Amino acid sequence: MIHWDSASSSLSKGESFEDTIETLAALAPDILIMRHSEYNAPRSVARFMGCPVINGGDSYRAHPTQALLDLLTIQQAKGDVSKLKIAICGDIAHSRVARSNATLLDKLGAELHMVAPEYLMPQDVGYKNATAFTSLNEGIKGCDVVMMLRLQKERMSQGLITSDQSYFKEFGLTHARLKHAKPDAIIMHPGPMNRGVEIDDAVADDPVRSMIRRQVANGVPTRMAVLDWLLEQNKG
Ligand code: ASP
Repeated sequence: MIHWDSASSSLSKGESFEDTIETLAALAPDILIMRHSEYNAPRSVARFMGCPVINGGDSYRAHPTQALLDLLTIQQAKGDVSKLKIAICGDIAHSRVARSNATLLDKLGAELHMVAPEYLMPQDVGYKNATAFTSLNEGIKGCDVVMMLRLQKERMSQGLITSDQSYFKEFGLTHARLKHAKPDAIIMHPGPMNRGVEIDDAVADDPVRSMIRRQVANGVPTRMAVLDWLLEQNKG
């Protein structure tokens, strides 16, 4: 396995991105896993590589393996996704996790609630089974799954959020708010969490309802399965 980090690579010595990719392609890897801050970067790079490229998260666009491990977690806890009401809540505008989850869960027939304050809601929610809500209490009403998202401050323009405390007051998930969801609703978060900003400590650490650690654990078999499947497809 070659671990390649742009900060310590030839890119930092002035090599062009194209040359770096060609150098990586010349090493003839079986698979390239790529995380990049630019929109669609893994797709552009895939054209130059003679191997599958796994998107490990690009910009605010997509994070497919996170969505797959989230799906596994939901299925383990709640079964058939097409019978579920799932709320994706918080900074949807800047979240690749929200986009990939909504794409996948929508395809599988879940009823989706896209829940964000107006200033963090994308212009076009654009999923067949999705409804947009700007109130957290309304958005999680009757839901089986409440997925909270991190405020992606690194991707938002300055001044969008006045303070962490005011955001928590408006949109932080507490047990009092969670009463609006189904009594057995599970809580999810892709991490890293900001406690006291989008989620209260007691909710994050709820021993029965919080699936946050299970999501992390499910990342291992999910990503192993993706690697295994791709290697099998590419055999011979
Ligand atoms: N848990 C995710 C990850 O680190 C969150 C993200 O980066 O979007 O891959």
